[in-house]
Amino acid sequence: MTDIKKNLERIKSELPDNVKLVAVSKTKPESDIQEAYETGQRIFGENKAQEMQGKAESLPDDIEWHMIGHLQRNKVKYIAPFVSLLHSVDSWRLLKEVNKRAKNEERVIDCLLQIHIAKEESKFGLDEDEVSEILYSEEFEKLENIRIVGLMGMATLTENEDQIRREFKSLQDLFDKIKNDKFSMEDSFKELSMGMSSDFKIAIEEGSTMIRIGSDIFGARNYG
Ligand SMILES: *Cc1c(COP(=O)(O)O)cnc(C)c1O
Repeated sequence: MTDIKKNLERIKSELPDNVKLVAVSKTKPESDIQEAYETGQRIFGENKAQEMQGKAESLPDDIEWHMIGHLQRNKVKYIAPFVSLLHSVDSWRLLKEVNKRAKNEERVIDCLLQIHIAKEESKFGLDEDEVSEILYSEEFEKLENIRIVGLMGMATLTENEDQIRREFKSLQDLFDKIKNDKFSMEDSFKELSMGMSSDFKIAIEEGSTMIRIGSDIFGARNYG
């Protein structure tokens, strides 16, 4: 068995049934994705729109492509025809653009709101007030071609496990609050995308339903 296959089997054997695995294949060649595909893996995550579009064109049709990285509005058009989940909605303007492009494609695109939970400075992710501004606006109700199915967040890159745990907990709390206040009648609001190679075990303990694993499956990335 190749390393990719071994890594995947190991990680999958550690996952509870309710946790989905997104194999993060950004920067990796199509041959690596094909190998993972042969073990039965169907969900792949990319962070660049055109890279994802190119891979989607040449790889099997039953792959679910997840966009996990910051997406510029002018790039939405490249992935709107096929993307199955957008994890990284970090602004009102992006959400409206996704709705518009989804409408052109006559489809509904599932989205997660990306929440800024880390202590460290990061340009991306909404805070609680910004989430409320979006979800409780009149305009939101008119967006018929997007569906908010949950939240995504990234913990601080640190060795301090208590801090990582606190950050994931804060995301789970916000999830529960939004679920109760806004989506209590909607079964589709159910995903909590948190956990990467370094912290997915903590994330699962804190309620993650979707982990995004790159280097633990495909090896370290080389950005050249
Ligand atoms: C790259 C990336 C991952 C995967 O990171 P690894 O540490 O390689 O598992 C997960 N989530 C996001 C948003 C990423 O950009």
